[in-house]
Amino acid sequence: MHEYSLVEALVRRVEEEARRRKATAVHGLTVSLGELSGVDPELFRTAYETFRAGTLCAGTPLTLTVFAARWSCPRCQGEIARGSALRCPACGLPARLAEKADALMLESIDLEVP
Ligand SMILES: [Zn+2]
Repeated sequence: MHEYSLVEALVRRVEEEARRRKATAVHGLTVSLGELSGVDPELFRTAYETFRAGTLCAGTPLTLTVFAARWSCPRCQGEIARGSALRCPACGLPARLAEKADALMLESIDLEVP
């Protein structure tokens, strides 16, 4: 499953970061998930619960922030309603997808560094 490989990559990255900073524990993880990233938040959470056993993240709570897809006009910044044509009614320009709506990002790692 897609979510499992994403979680694996995430945990590896956290472990790498922790090693690099000589951290002894990871107290928290914050991940942002865009609505259009193709990642199911529930599956992602389940994958994390399964995968973290035996890693540095075994006792680390995961905070998932889901970003809704929002489109706006690149010129007038007007927001374009969901479900309507993805074009600004005033300027006629193609709508631009809001930042983070199609991405999965590791926002922060709370490390304990002695
Ligand atoms: Zn516009």
